[in-house]
Amino acid sequence: MKQSQLFTKTQKDAPKDEVSLNAQLLIRAGFVHKEMAGVYAYMPLGLRVLENIKKIVKEEMNAVGGQELMMTTLQPKEIWEKTDRWDDKKVDNWFKTKLVSGTELGVGLTHEEPVVDVVSNYLSSYKDMPFAVYQIQNKFRNELRAKSGLFRGREFLMKDMYTFSRDQKQHMEIYEKIVEAYFKVYERLGLGGITYRTYADGGIFTPRFSDEFQTLAAVGEDIIYLDEKKGIAINKEILTDENLQKLGLDRKNLVEKKAVEVGNTFHLESKYTDALDLYYVDENGEKQSIIMGCYGIGISRLMGVIAEIFSDAKGLVWPESVAPFKVHLISLGKDEEAEKIYAELQKNGIEVLFDDRDESAGKKFADADLIGIPYRVVVSEKSMQAGGVEVKKRKEEKGEIVKIEDLVRKMK
Ligand code: ATP
Ligand code: MG
Repeated sequence: MKQSQLFTKTQKDAPKDEVSLNAQLLIRAGFVHKEMAGVYAYMPLGLRVLENIKKIVKEEMNAVGGQELMMTTLQPKEIWEKTDRWDDKKVDNWFKTKLVSGTELGVGLTHEEPVVDVVSNYLSSYKDMPFAVYQIQNKFRNELRAKSGLFRGREFLMKDMYTFSRDQKQHMEIYEKIVEAYFKVYERLGLGGITYRTYADGGIFTPRFSDEFQTLAAVGEDIIYLDEKKGIAINKEILTDENLQKLGLDRKNLVEKKAVEVGNTFHLESKYTDALDLYYVDENGEKQSIIMGCYGIGISRLMGVIAEIFSDAKGLVWPESVAPFKVHLISLGKDEEAEKIYAELQKNGIEVLFDDRDESAGKKFADADLIGIPYRVVVSEKSMQAGGVEVKKRKEEKGEIVKIEDLVRKMK
């Protein structure tokens, strides 16, 4: 893509009311637009990042047999009444709306009830299980505070997966498979080694712990206690001697860390299926309860986390796997040569943002640093005299000269 055509521009300052670093950077670089507190629109550069994150998540969910579907945002109140989650006293962050006729509707904040409603049309026998369905969809939550940019939105993108199993054994097998897939997701997003499985409260209807996936970050809202040797953590909220004993953790080996929850997995037992009257018939013709699991990943929160923790004083520093483009090609008065290189890179399937604007070198470099594309390739009189183009990684101080004929191979 040619930067002269990109309708967004970099900005020197973020809006005054924007206090979070991730949103400040993303707004200044033209990745997101702040519509209001906790509500962000994705501009072309930002949408490319979001799509890259989605693609990785989908690939890993598909790899463990997840079937993608899309449920509805508008929700009938009846199914939520059956599980006692309609009343604002029970769930305090609903957005609700009404039909012209006055019928109340909910605006989807999670999808356990709707997914059971969907599945009840198809699931009746033990032979139908296990299976996993998931979607990537905007969720709406009337969050009290929305001051952390993409970390906590009132409208935000989530991947939510749900599994249906005939018994605990089947459930635990699929659950652990999904946990493994989660680690692959975080690894591919560049968050491997700083994202930990963290034991957390499972809810009143299960004796089991839930698992949170917590990425270490100074700005995190959560406090976790990490056993660095074991690579396992426990959320401060459930840090008791009894729980430590159950989990085989020793207080002496735990260090306190701040972290952001980038995903979680829950054992739902048969709370939702029972409440919505969904059962299956086993081999002996007997009616049995269905065991569910649910598994969330904060897609838009992840974009904020990646933006924030990999940034520096100059701007964003995207990992290659999610970067909006791989190469930022900058022409300094060498437009003809740059055009040729642009065409050649594109022909070879390398994604390029080509800064063909009529701007100073200083402005172009500052913008490139702010936007944070992994490789900067500069074509200038100086680089040509040195024998080619200058290739520099975003965090490197100095680049190296690469012959034009070697560039494609190098970038691949
Ligand atoms: P939190 O503890 O951060 O409030 P949660 O426990 O309510 O999140 P879920 O409802 O299970 O989270 O959502 C699944 C994932 O979606 C979370 O792990 C998180 O990454 C992300 N998420 C939750 N709420 C928000 C939000 N308001 N904005 C952006 N992402 C969110
Ligand atoms: Mg949580």
